Amino acid sequence: MSAVLVPGDYRPQPRPSWLSAPFWEAAARGELIVQRCGACQHLFFRPEAACPRCLAQEWSWERMSGRATVYSFTVVHRPPVPGMTVPYAVADVLLDEGVHMMTNIVGCDKDEVAIDMPVKVEFVKQADLFLPFFIPVHSSEGQARHAAE
Ligand code: ZN
Repeated sequence: MSAVLVPGDYRPQPRPSWLSAPFWEAAARGELIVQRCGACQHLFFRPEAACPRCLAQEWSWERMSGRATVYSFTVVHRPPVPGMTVPYAVADVLLDEGVHMMTNIVGCDKDEVAIDMPVKVEFVKQADLFLPFFIPVHSSEGQARHAAE
C-alpha cells in the first residue's frame, strides 16, 4: 500500500535571503509570485539578481495564477536527511504563465502523480514559512475551469 502524501510532513526549512524575501512574504499571503524582467519581459524563477535571459538587473515581482501542469517528476523513497517522511513526489511543474518551478506534489497518493496532470499551488505552513507545494486539480474542477474560459 502506498503512503498518501499530506501537507505537514517534515521537510528541511528554506532560509529566505534578501533576494527571495518578497517571494516568502507573498507566500504567507497565499500569493505565488515570480520575477519579470523589465528589459525583455522574461518571467523567471527561482529568484535571481539578474535576468537569466538578458542579464538586465531591472525586474519586478508578478503574481501568478497558481495553476500548473506536471512537466516531470520523481518519487523519492530514501530520505535525503534523517527524519524526512518518504515517499514524496518532487516535480518540475510548468505554471500556466510558462515558468518552471521545482516543488512537491502533495494531497494525493504518489502513484496518482502523472506527467501533464493539472495541479494548483497549495501553501503549506512549516515553522514560520509557507511552502508552495502543488495539489491535483480534480477533473470536475478542470472542466469548470475550461468552461469559465
Ligand atoms: Zn531579460
